[in-house]
Amino acid sequence: MKKNLALLLIATGILGGCEQFNQETSEQSSQSAETSSSSVTLTPEEEQKLAEEAEHQAMLDALPDVSTDDWNLELVNNWTTIDESIERPLSALPNGLLVDQRIIEDYTAMTEAGKEAGHEIIAVSTYRSVELQTTNYNNSIQKYVDEGYSKEEAVKLTEDYIAIPGGSEHHTGLAIDVMDTEWLNSGKGLIAEFDTQESQQWLVEHAADYGFVLRFPKGKEEETGIEYESWHFRYVGKENAAYMKNYDLSLEEYIVLLDEAGK
Ligand SMILES: [Zn+2]
Repeated sequence: MKKNLALLLIATGILGGCEQFNQETSEQSSQSAETSSSSVTLTPEEEQKLAEEAEHQAMLDALPDVSTDDWNLELVNNWTTIDESIERPLSALPNGLLVDQRIIEDYTAMTEAGKEAGHEIIAVSTYRSVELQTTNYNNSIQKYVDEGYSKEEAVKLTEDYIAIPGGSEHHTGLAIDVMDTEWLNSGKGLIAEFDTQESQQWLVEHAADYGFVLRFPKGKEEETGIEYESWHFRYVGKENAAYMKNYDLSLEEYIVLLDEAGK
């Protein structure tokens, strides 16, 4: 860490024109007689590369002590389908919807804190079997075909929002689609504009404190393979959520980083 910090200082300080640092260096050089002060000249591109490398190393060093094998980091997406051999301890939320029982305590704490802040957050879609996902997926394609789209277009439009069967994070029991009671009663459903609700904004701000992240944020569509979903929250545990929020990482990016660090 110290070494990297020094590298970063060198990159952004000496070479980037930090007066104080240069001054110290020249003082040190004059004290230590013949040592010539920094004569290395780097192009702005090289400087930037060095700074980026130092920053990246600092990110690796700051990773929590976790493993990509941890149950709460299970990755399921359009490229990595669910491992159905893993046993999932499912339990029902008070409204009857099933989730992995290991997330209930934190989810309950989050909704209670939300309530205190004036938001009635409710789970509307949680655990989903591969069978149910297959039905949803096929129904969606059929709906678009009925509207006059070609089969190919219908598949494309469906896959913007609906994961392929086996590729939905809802199979893990760690994902929860939420609304607030006001939004639910409005009948508007799960649409991006749910983010105009204060409850959603509260969640984006506080979910990490309870181990949840907004799983498909704006700007991460390429990484996640899913369009922006303002309503889909995923449990990853508090440490992971804090890190992902701090560095603005999707789960896919976070796992790449953990892999790189050998975790
Ligand atoms: Zn969802």
